Amino acid sequence: MASLGIVKLFLNIFFCLNLLASSAQGKEDYSKYRYPFIKAASSFTSSRTWTGNDSPYDYIIVGGGTAGCPLAATLSEKFRVLLLERGDAPFANLNVSYLQNFHISLADTSPTSASQAFISTDGVINARARVLGGGTCINAGFYTRATPGFIKKAGWDSEIVKESYPWIEKQIVRWPQVAPWQEALRNGLLEVGVSPFNGFTYDHIYGTKIGGTTFDKSGRRYTAAHLLASANPENLRVLVHATVEKILFDKTGRQPRAVGVVFKDEYGNRHQAFVSKRMESEVILSSGAIGSPQLLLLSGIGPATDLKRMNIPVVLHNEFVGKGMSDNPMNSIFVPTKKPVKQSLIETVGITKMGVFIEGSSGFGQSSDSIQCNHGIMSAEVSSRVLVST
Ligand SMILES: Cc1cc2nc3c(=O)[nH]c(=O)nc-3n(C[C@H](O)[C@H](O)[C@H](O)COP(=O)(O)OP(=O)(O)OC[C@H]3O[C@@H](n4cnc5c(N)ncnc54)[C@H](O)[C@@H]3O)c2cc1C
Repeated sequence: MASLGIVKLFLNIFFCLNLLASSAQGKEDYSKYRYPFIKAASSFTSSRTWTGNDSPYDYIIVGGGTAGCPLAATLSEKFRVLLLERGDAPFANLNVSYLQNFHISLADTSPTSASQAFISTDGVINARARVLGGGTCINAGFYTRATPGFIKKAGWDSEIVKESYPWIEKQIVRWPQVAPWQEALRNGLLEVGVSPFNGFTYDHIYGTKIGGTTFDKSGRRYTAAHLLASANPENLRVLVHATVEKILFDKTGRQPRAVGVVFKDEYGNRHQAFVSKRMESEVILSSGAIGSPQLLLLSGIGPATDLKRMNIPVVLHNEFVGKGMSDNPMNSIFVPTKKPVKQSLIETVGITKMGVFIEGSSGFGQSSDSIQCNHGIMSAEVSSRVLVST
């Protein structure tokens, strides 16, 4: 999560410079990419009511991001799944595909950018994903496993979690070819006592280590959207440019039950999609830390007083929805260098017992076919630098 902090800093500067960037995304034929089940949202034929003809879907998943894509792929082994994602597919997006374009992708503030800039109520400049694959398409690609303590706190079955890791790792995680700056960072961390050196490991353990990366040796990014290749194509439908606006409820029982959603397609036309009438059918929200509570609130689940103030009919009062969000604190040190430094994102990390996570990136770049924009003092042409964040 400290990587998130790095980006806040970059974005801060990008925004100050008031960058104008255009999108590198283009129209694509999704079936070319081993994903024939990915379609544009406008291809959907709406169901009029839940009580009408039964829907084919056991699950509707809202948000095809880091969590939503693997969830859809695994559920599709046994169930029929509809995955709705507001952004485009990432496969032909050069900003997403190459490590070189990490910064430029975050600087792209065009409406079709895979990265959506926002400023939190505390005034912190940040970005969230708007693309199939979610945060894995715009993040720094560092991969690590969770701590046993985290798994326990989350109430997950540790055996199932352990079995699930290799499924992800085989498909999209690699060991980095450690860049010179990352070696220097490793030596520096050990020198100041962030030890022992744990070598290459996915485990989140105290000391200094080299973790996994979702970039391959040539700097090509693998994302959660690539995990959809493991789905059962017979059981999965993925709609891109499908922005869900509201969850629909059946209120005839004792408790309201989520039975469908309203979504807008790429032309602004609205559609309704419903789950099947099986009692086990569910609408699952995986729209991110901001998107999920936003959708609950828009649908009438949240603090009743807040909803009434916004003229949203209350479906279920819950005082916690949309509350308790906080920004990730971060301190960064920028080290200017006279000679260009090889570009690297997060490979080496230091994890201290105080809970501090120390990481670093180096250099700047952009491929010749990516969007072109001036990054001012952050640009690779003007200076080279390395960055350490905690
Ligand atoms: C710049 C940056 C660098 C980072 N670096 C790292 C790193 O190196 N390592 C690491 O582990 N973590 C990193 N993170 C954090 C990590 O990427 C996120 O924690 C993770 O992606 C969150 O996953 P998610 O599934 O909850 O949400 P997301 O991956 O954001 O997925 C949510 C999806 O829902 C979609 N959505 C939202 N609302 C709607 C709607 N109404 N209708 C339809 N779709 C909707 C969004 O478009 C998005 O695709 C970084 C984050 C950022 C921003």
